[in-house]
Amino acid sequence: MNYASIRTCDIANGEGVRVSLFVSGCTHRCKGCFNPDQWDFAYGKPFDAGTEAEIFAALDKGFISGLTILGGEPMEPENQRALVPFLRRMRRRFGDARNLWVYTGCVLETELEADSHWRTEVTDEFLSMVDVLVDGPFVESLKDISLRFRGSSNQRIIDMAARRRGLAS
Ligand code: SF4
Repeated sequence: MNYASIRTCDIANGEGVRVSLFVSGCTHRCKGCFNPDQWDFAYGKPFDAGTEAEIFAALDKGFISGLTILGGEPMEPENQRALVPFLRRMRRRFGDARNLWVYTGCVLETELEADSHWRTEVTDEFLSMVDVLVDGPFVESLKDISLRFRGSSNQRIIDMAARRRGLAS
């Protein structure tokens, strides 16, 4: 997996001050996408051990609330497979002290939870580590700049942790 950039002090993509990772590769091709360079899976730099160390060092800072992964499309099958081992190590190191937000152009129930080409052998594990999922494609006709943390009104901010508690009860 390649990534486009890392922000170590981001307040635009989730609650609190966050570290943000913009991964490369997206096949949604939403009209009006703000990051079309990142549709290309070869864009940017390889995500390697040095990248992981850089992210962990940024997450170590006491004022950081957590990590946001966006792109590009984190839920592209090949990106899921690259991100899950990294997220396991992040959870081992930080436990629940840092939360995880993920932005996806997929719709949770119909594309990530139901049978579709987005689902892989690691999708459920990936979703089990996400605290907040911002889902759905960017729809230019529904663009609304007053919305917090999302670009168009079809997109949802889903509290995955609360959802898991609801499913468990
Ligand atoms: S899902 Fe995101 S990165 Fe992909 S085309 Fe849509 S807006 Fe752009």
